[in-house]
Amino acid sequence: MTLCRRVPFLTFVVSPKRKVKINLSGCNFDCRGCFAIAKQEVGRALSVEELLNLLIKSCQFIYGEMIEDVQFTGGEPTMNTDYLLSLIRQLRELQVSKIGISTNGHLLGKDLVKELRSLDVNYIKLDLKAYHDKIHKWYTGESNAKVLKAVEILNRYGLNFYVRTIFIPDVIDFGEIEEIARFLSKINKGITYKIYQFSPEYVKNNISKRRPTEKKMLKAFNVARSYLDHVEFYTTNTAYKPDPYKCIEVRSDELLEDFKRIDEISKLIIKDWDMQYLTMNQILTS
Ligand code: SF4
Repeated sequence: MTLCRRVPFLTFVVSPKRKVKINLSGCNFDCRGCFAIAKQEVGRALSVEELLNLLIKSCQFIYGEMIEDVQFTGGEPTMNTDYLLSLIRQLRELQVSKIGISTNGHLLGKDLVKELRSLDVNYIKLDLKAYHDKIHKWYTGESNAKVLKAVEILNRYGLNFYVRTIFIPDVIDFGEIEEIARFLSKINKGITYKIYQFSPEYVKNNISKRRPTEKKMLKAFNVARSYLDHVEFYTTNTAYKPDPYKCIEVRSDELLEDFKRIDEISKLIIKDWDMQYLTMNQILTS
């Protein structure tokens, strides 16, 4: 049976450092704050071979050579494990030296972690949306039990990983950040923890209308820092400085109308927004 997944877009980072993010659509969570176009199964259905062909052609078109740094994101990249593992194996054959996965951790059990370890996956970005299960279930529709377990497993098997949380005023607030930091510190004080600033503009439902101020983000950082050795925080101001972030997206032709809305919002909230895009058809017929 041919393995297939829908791909809404691929991001080709040009600056500060070349890197490709492969966006695999469909997700096993239903986060109230989700603005990812890839939450639903959307975009072009591509087999592993078709996706690799698109990647190689896009790299040639944009960089003039194949890339060495690839990250899987979504949606949830682990939802079709065979597809993901097959892609990673073939990328290794193409001499891609750095491979990372951004995941909500729900399917990151022992067997998958061991497979990823054997393939020398270089890093995992693990979202831990909330510490208290009641809040996690309300926010995502699922328990966080497997995600908490995934942190322990990743640590036990020595995969390079860090944990991320979005600070959402009155929803995922200081109390949740503190509990997450405390939980991580009990596993390993050296785990890197990154706190991101919520952007209400992207979200269609009104879970929170406020963006946490820089001052509150700094406070959250300090709360987490009292438990962990490595904490970072990102806001719309700090995330894009000091190096300008520039990328080109290769978008599924079927979704161009949907991208218009996202581009309009991004222009409003991100200073110097400069998004260029090509379409999959443009690449494949070039
Ligand atoms: S895990 Fe990510 S892609 Fe899935 S619903 Fe939550 S925010 Fe959206």
